[in-house]
Amino acid sequence: MTPVTIIGGGLGGLMLARALHVQGIPSTIYESEASPEARTQGGQLDIHTYYGQLALADAGLTDQFRAIIHEGGAASRVLAQDGTVLLDEPDDGQDTRPEVLRGDLRRILRESLPEGTIQWGKKLASVTALGQGKHELTFTDGTRVTSDILVGADGAWSKVRPLLTDVKPAYTGTTYVETYLYDVDARHPATAAAVGDGGMFSLSPGKGISAHREAGAVLHTYVQLSCPEDWADSVDFADPVAVRTLVAAKFDGWAPELTALITDGETAPVSRKIYALPDNHRWDRVPGVTLIGDAAHLMPPAGEGANLAMFDAAELAKAIAANPGDVEAAFTAYETAMFPRSHQEAVDAQEVMDLCIGERAPFGLIEFFTQVGQGA
Ligand SMILES: Cc1cc2nc3c(=O)[nH]c(=O)nc-3n(C[C@H](O)[C@H](O)[C@H](O)COP(=O)(O)OP(=O)(O)OC[C@H]3O[C@@H](n4cnc5c(N)ncnc54)[C@H](O)[C@@H]3O)c2cc1C
Repeated sequence: MTPVTIIGGGLGGLMLARALHVQGIPSTIYESEASPEARTQGGQLDIHTYYGQLALADAGLTDQFRAIIHEGGAASRVLAQDGTVLLDEPDDGQDTRPEVLRGDLRRILRESLPEGTIQWGKKLASVTALGQGKHELTFTDGTRVTSDILVGADGAWSKVRPLLTDVKPAYTGTTYVETYLYDVDARHPATAAAVGDGGMFSLSPGKGISAHREAGAVLHTYVQLSCPEDWADSVDFADPVAVRTLVAAKFDGWAPELTALITDGETAPVSRKIYALPDNHRWDRVPGVTLIGDAAHLMPPAGEGANLAMFDAAELAKAIAANPGDVEAAFTAYETAMFPRSHQEAVDAQEVMDLCIGERAPFGLIEFFTQVGQGA
């Protein structure tokens, strides 16, 4: 079997290596981070029955996945600016969209791979097409390898993508500011009570505070702001106190247990400018290379990106296994299904973003949760 060269060891790249391994196909992941511990892996992801859980089942990892579920974490509530509860939905325990920590998910995928599959500290610097589907990959440490089958799983700012398309992600008009509170039951009880067991959304047109309770008594917050990119760039994130003051001022008059998610943050606030590729991003077939996950279809965060990355990976592995010796047929089959799937999901993601901080906030999101709860 011709080995597959994967750039990027995020959820997409790791799942691809695992799914190929299950099919008996060797692969190597080149990952820019120096080691699994190089970066904190904060953030909880809800893993859906229709994409993420299907991929994990194909990969033979359902038991490992069940072991890392944050029980009760799928609860949702919407609060008014004064803290009044507008909607409160407990975790129904059905495991249709259970929450797990990204770091745990990456760990179970990593542990399922043969020794040596991941080459750490290998940041792709450039790629050159050699013809007949082969590519020469040059890493920032000066080393080079040649690929026969190349998959870009290297996220939003993919270095593989330019082989297929000139399109670059564009700023969406929204910036998230990320904060953390720790040991919240003891140290921030009013805020812990306001957030509850799962996700809490307090939203208005143009801005909102969304927090999740994560395993280990942690509150992880994204403050969502509609703002021009130059405003986001003008904020000096090297000065955490100034950032907290500036961001909190936008929520003047909101309940103190909500604004505490900004003012009492125990880590330096982090800027997450939200970028996206066009909804219908696609490319013409180029021999020997394709993309999965954010590299293929970066979209606003709406709870589907990690799920889609893993599903792309599982589908691509199946297509490669079903077309032995004919990678072009495999890539064509994968892309023919992936393009319309990600187009629809990108449109939906934009709608979810609009429900959160568009003109109808917070009532659009309440209607959405009510419809999802009724199985719409
Ligand atoms: C603020 C925010 C919140 C989100 N919340 C959710 C959520 O709740 N649920 C959800 O499903 N999705 C969420 N997402 C989206 C989700 O994080 C992504 O869709 C998902 O991580 C995509 O996986 P991936 O493997 O394609 O890319 P990534 O996770 O970005 O992984 C790419 C990997 O490639 C590596 N890499 C990058 N460049 C190179 C290079 N040149 N050479 C070698 N390696 C390289 C990176 O180090 C990384 O390990 C969120 C996104 C954001 C921004």
